[in-house]
Amino acid sequence: MSNDPKKRRQFIQQMTGLGVLGLVAAGGIFGAPYLEAEGPRLRPPGAVPEKEFLGLCIKCGQCLQVCPYDAIRLEDIDGRASVGMAYIEPRERGCYLCDAFPCILACPSGALDHEHDSIEFVHMGIAVVHNPQGCLAKTGTPVPDEAIDRIYDHTKVLSAKEREEHKVQINDDDPEKVVLQKQLLQKLEKHRGEKPCTICADMCPFHPDPSKAIGMVDAKGGGLLPEIREACNGCGACVELCPTDVIKVIPRKTYADIYGKKGAKNA
Ligand code: SF4
Ligand code: SF4
Ligand code: SF4
Repeated sequence: MSNDPKKRRQFIQQMTGLGVLGLVAAGGIFGAPYLEAEGPRLRPPGAVPEKEFLGLCIKCGQCLQVCPYDAIRLEDIDGRASVGMAYIEPRERGCYLCDAFPCILACPSGALDHEHDSIEFVHMGIAVVHNPQGCLAKTGTPVPDEAIDRIYDHTKVLSAKEREEHKVQINDDDPEKVVLQKQLLQKLEKHRGEKPCTICADMCPFHPDPSKAIGMVDAKGGGLLPEIREACNGCGACVELCPTDVIKVIPRKTYADIYGKKGAKNA
């Protein structure tokens, strides 16, 4: 088969007839049974449609190796798809939407589409506020220490001692990966004890304007809640960082699929 990612993709499409399948439009679907169903994995940015992806990902781990946030994992033997497929588990580590999308550029097979290597083309899924009653901004609860401490365990760039002592000083000779992950922790630290919590809206990496993807708004019955907006691309950073697991990402779905034309509503 050709080494050209585009030709490889066309080949797979012809072989499987997947070009006409694509995603099933699901306008207005938004309910507990849907959210609880074990849907497709969240794939790295630029992933081609799921069935094509399963044919194209050659399990080489190139995307994982270049990811400065250690967001990408490879399916293990107990996983949902065949061993070695690239995916993101956002509650453990979201994607932080790197400027140049090194994961896409590193992919040699076309599973991550090189024509989708900028923020306007990246669409991984859509966030939903699935547990509004748990939101600390709704209940007026300060962000507890454990919620911040938990994220230190998500990084591999700190030693066990540094994680324990929360040392995140950036040295001149730190590699870029360490700098980025320490900067993330330093930004998150500002939310320790915060009331009301604004972690999801403040830490959203959508650029240049995160308020196009998420914002805090008045909730019915008092307090605040995050509101998911049209530019959200399902990176999952808010899922990882939320202290109380209020937000989920539905992989492969769009804002229109989930919220329709009426937009997100607050509980
Ligand atoms: S955009 Fe950056 S953080 Fe996200 S998966 Fe790619 S390399 Fe990792
Ligand atoms: S991160 Fe967002 S959703 Fe989670 S508790 Fe804080 S304000 Fe609520
Ligand atoms: S709201 Fe922001 S952080 Fe959350 S999934 Fe959407 S783009 Fe990512």
